[in-house]
Amino acid sequence: MITIALSKGRIFEETTPLLKAAGIYPLEDPESSRKLILSTNREDVRLIIVRATDVPTYVQYGAADLGVAGKDVLNEHGGAGLYQPLDLKIANCKMMVAVREDFDYFGSIRRGARLKVVTKYVKTAREHFAEKGMHVDLIKLYGSMELGPLVGLADAIVDLVSTGGTLRANNLKAVEEIMNISSRLVVNQASHKLKRILLSPIIESFSNAVEKKQD
Ligand code: ATP
Ligand code: MG
Repeated sequence: MITIALSKGRIFEETTPLLKAAGIYPLEDPESSRKLILSTNREDVRLIIVRATDVPTYVQYGAADLGVAGKDVLNEHGGAGLYQPLDLKIANCKMMVAVREDFDYFGSIRRGARLKVVTKYVKTAREHFAEKGMHVDLIKLYGSMELGPLVGLADAIVDLVSTGGTLRANNLKAVEEIMNISSRLVVNQASHKLKRILLSPIIESFSNAVEKKQD
């Protein structure tokens, strides 16, 4: 049996065509079903639906053989126990620093001000500001980071941005790019060896489908 860990929403939607390329069709839609284990057309392949941030954990401990997780999530997890053979080039966005439209970010840095930053991505943010030699106070949030600077909780946010629509709607502006984000295929290291015969064709099909999409 092969177990593949996915999260609902954009990861599931954007992984479906890749599964299809590998001849794997889910028999249920996680958006309408409440089931957390979904069967597929293949008796030896099942999908489990977990929170995006939990995908690396399921794969690390071998509860899932494969998973799809954003670079944002993988960076916070650290990648222990995971083999990352493939950038799937889906769920593309950028990790950015953003502030209120009326906030002088670069002026504050020049003055050596100690900024307060809210984020779900504490490790990524810590590494970014340390690399810049900036002293910041990081405050962990679990969502709606955009609100932080609007109500005086923070001066800046570190969050994912794709179109910038949410920033604009909340009078925020992006001031710094931290990294490009896309989702990766992650494989349990033991499964990769022990279930090689089952996993290799799936990984190969994913890889071909990703390349084909690039042309
Ligand atoms: P929830 O929204 O339920 O709290 P989540 O934010 O972890 O969970 P998603 O919003 O579905 O889940 O994000 C899953 C992954 O998709 C993220 O880890 C990231 O890699 C990517 N992602 C997040 N936001 C965007 C975006 N705006 N555009 C493209 N990809 C994104
Ligand atoms: Mg989200």
